[in-house]
Amino acid sequence: MRQNEKCGICEQNKPQGIHLYTLFICCDCEQKIVHTDPEEAQYKHYLKKLKRMHQSTLYS
Ligand SMILES: [Zn+2]
Repeated sequence: MRQNEKCGICEQNKPQGIHLYTLFICCDCEQKIVHTDPEEAQYKHYLKKLKRMHQSTLYS
């Protein structure tokens, strides 16, 4: 049985995705990031989320 993980971007539970640092990113969001133009605001939104995760290096 496969357990869904909560995507750190769209905050929905998804069965498939990648792990970046401590952040789980679902396939949908991964594709969005890959296909998003870096100059688009959306991309910055993702980066902000990623940065926040990256900064919290301590595991609870
Ligand atoms: Zn997602």
